[in-house]
Amino acid sequence: MEEKGLSAAFERLNRSAFRRRFKLSAAMKRYVAEKGLETIRRHAEDFVRQRLAPARPPNDGRQTPMKGHPVFLAQHATATCCRGCLNRWWHVPLNVPLTALQQQKIVNLILAWILRQVFVCRCCGACCRIPDGIVRVSEREIARIAAFLGENEETFIAAETELSPDRKSLILKSRADGACVYLTEDNRCRIHPVKPDKCRTFPYEWTNPDSHHICPGLRVCSTGPDGMI
Ligand code: SF4
Ligand code: SF4
Repeated sequence: MEEKGLSAAFERLNRSAFRRRFKLSAAMKRYVAEKGLETIRRHAEDFVRQRLAPARPPNDGRQTPMKGHPVFLAQHATATCCRGCLNRWWHVPLNVPLTALQQQKIVNLILAWILRQVFVCRCCGACCRIPDGIVRVSEREIARIAAFLGENEETFIAAETELSPDRKSLILKSRADGACVYLTEDNRCRIHPVKPDKCRTFPYEWTNPDSHHICPGLRVCSTGPDGMI
């Protein structure tokens, strides 16, 4: 798949009225919550390996039902339902087996779609007050945030950023308790419309092994039935 990152992939999919119309029903969301995302990932891996990965999958074009499992819905929503769609949308060559890497990318796209359907942010602010957590900011992001705050870039850099521990980039400053300087008392982000990509893409495009302990929204859809979506 040649698409550069999940954001670009979803932007493209969202432009298709056909792909956009797929949604998980309440029952499907409950199924995801009951099973947990890791189990759903294993189901997706099995479906992709058995129904898509062979060079010429049996029944190609009709191998993915329109209902019955959240992964099937996700496959239609993400144009990963048959080799024809994979070819037209993601330029995956026809008539050759999918590599392990291609299968992994397809599964990642499917899971990212499912996560977007089931994740509910609790607005707890926990991801903005991780001890030793850092938010790197690029030049483009610095310009955008400074403009939003009505500051010039030099003033912003001096007052609101510091050098990262690895000295490779600038990061947003934290308060003494580890919270980001832009986290408000009611757990809102003061620069929400222009917040850095690292914040904007959590947890849809990246997590780490601690994320499920930190983020209650992820815990609910990743650990099974204690707390339904
Ligand atoms: S910039 Fe906003 S979203 Fe990002 S860590 Fe700070 S408060 Fe949280
Ligand atoms: S930790 Fe999770 S639930 Fe809490 S604000 Fe961050 S994304 Fe939302």
